[in-house]
Amino acid sequence: MIISKQKPFEEILNFLKGKDKIFITGCSLCATSCMTGGQQQIDEMKNKLEEHGKTVTGTTVLDPSCHRLQVRATLKKQKVELASADAVLCMACGDGAQTVAAFAKIPVYPANDTLFIGEVERIGHFHEACKACGQCELGWTAGICPITKCAKSLLNGPCGGATNGKCEVDPDNDCAWVLIYNRLKEQDMLDTLLEIKGPKDYSKAAHPRKYVVGR
Ligand code: SF4
Ligand code: SF4
Repeated sequence: MIISKQKPFEEILNFLKGKDKIFITGCSLCATSCMTGGQQQIDEMKNKLEEHGKTVTGTTVLDPSCHRLQVRATLKKQKVELASADAVLCMACGDGAQTVAAFAKIPVYPANDTLFIGEVERIGHFHEACKACGQCELGWTAGICPITKCAKSLLNGPCGGATNGKCEVDPDNDCAWVLIYNRLKEQDMLDTLLEIKGPKDYSKAAHPRKYVVGR
């Protein structure tokens, strides 16, 4: 899931300076789970903008905001509300905001900061899980990502700086390599670590990336 966090309201208002009529979009998937772009957050944003003298011409929860065909079709259905707005405030991730910007024909402003690909631990608690490196290593690391969970993205074991199982870079975090070692041991798979990994091919993560199924 793409984890996002709502920007400070002052920053949002600053974007919307000189724009009086606003159309608000959200997203049914990640931003709803992050509580940054579901119907409830849209309603709250609408009330706040109206308190600050803006008119909200319409709202929609895109399903989802990163799906170009869905976004185009939904915005088409609401073309009257959209056409009467000076700007769109997009309560989705950066990808969702770019998708809306491709079709809106008026300025689109992000209401959220996009943080990372991560997991929901419990409501309102998220942690980073994957950096989309382009060649997944989980098959030999017991399902724990060394690229994301190790602060140094080490591929051949620990740096040696961990204390009591905690990372030397941020002692609030467990050392990924202690976790990997322990889980491989539980699974009787420590042999996996004997193979030295060569340099990782980070060209697979060069931006912007494209992928077409079947090619
Ligand atoms: S190894 Fe790469 S693709 Fe796999 S979880 Fe880690 S960052 Fe994501
Ligand atoms: S202490 Fe562990 S998680 Fe932290 S940088 Fe070193 S190997 Fe990586």
